[in-house]
Amino acid sequence: MIERLIRDNIRKLEAYASARSEFKGKASVFLDANENAMGSPAGDNLNRYPDPLQTSLKQIVSDLKRVPEACIFLGNGSDEPIDLLFRMFCKPGQDNVIQLTPTYGMYQVAAGINDVAIRNVPLQDDFSMDALKVLTAADADTKLIFICSPNNPTGNLMDRKQVELLLKRFKGLVVVDEAYIDFAAPGASVADLLHKYERLVVLQTFSKAWGMAGLRIGMALASPVLVAIMNKVKAPYNIGTLAQEYAIRALRNQKWIHSWTRETIAQRQMLYLALGRLPFVIKVFPSEANFLLVKVVDAQQLYDYLLARGIVVRNRATVKGCEGCLRITVGSLEENEQLLLALESYSKQSL
Ligand SMILES: *Cc1c(COP(=O)(O)O)cnc(C)c1O
Repeated sequence: MIERLIRDNIRKLEAYASARSEFKGKASVFLDANENAMGSPAGDNLNRYPDPLQTSLKQIVSDLKRVPEACIFLGNGSDEPIDLLFRMFCKPGQDNVIQLTPTYGMYQVAAGINDVAIRNVPLQDDFSMDALKVLTAADADTKLIFICSPNNPTGNLMDRKQVELLLKRFKGLVVVDEAYIDFAAPGASVADLLHKYERLVVLQTFSKAWGMAGLRIGMALASPVLVAIMNKVKAPYNIGTLAQEYAIRALRNQKWIHSWTRETIAQRQMLYLALGRLPFVIKVFPSEANFLLVKVVDAQQLYDYLLARGIVVRNRATVKGCEGCLRITVGSLEENEQLLLALESYSKQSL
């Protein structure tokens, strides 16, 4: 039972009843929320508080993800649910969580903010996960295990059987961060396991393939019990009116997304091959995301060289497990060509 895992103070918490969540039904005169009835200099309707539960947007997301609305939490980016999970499940100074390294930096930051210890379990040499190794790192105070799939910065998917093994054996929550899932092969998501495991949380976002990083909308897909508690703990108006409206508009106009994603995947494959042919490249790691992790002879030197030509990539050389590596996002056709031209001139001067 998930309730047993939740911190006592959160279980007992009475949610803040905002004016807009208390009122249900039809009305035309709103004198309940101390808003400015004269209007807003920012634009129509922006004098009003947003829908705290994002009802209209959630209906569209529900159709898109084929997940019931009760199983969807929408947050200010998917970084919001990461922080909420810590606050809901981990007693500061006592509990711990596990992450599989190298991985996304926010789990560590959220753990630090919440004064929760983080245990690092290194991925295997090919960046795959060993569920049994993860289980031996867990104890009675381990509340969350973060699995990033496709993993940032390595780009690989985690094996679904290994994830299921954790769900079967580990008593806490298994959080699978699928920020890059739209770039992976169809069927790679573990969201279909939600109906089977109450302790599974799947994080997805509109920031990457969906091209809405500036709107700040991410989601947690989870059991209705868990979603209800997340809604209780979140800031009442966590997603602004404009972000909700723009996201609704974008999701009704999806035609570009699928062809952009296909093109990104094709460009990823082109870059994978082209990078692999460069003399200073030691290894290009296979990727199911919109970036490639590349191990080179001198990462800092190459990073500086590219920067001097106005091309910024992510230097991961000091990250444990990523020694000598740069993480390069797949750009537009023109950007990728610019990158390859710069890399070719680098290889001429470095030889
Ligand atoms: C980018 C990213 C996120 C996302 O972010 P939001 O913009 O907050 O939705 C989450 N997880 C991983 C692994 C990422 O790389």
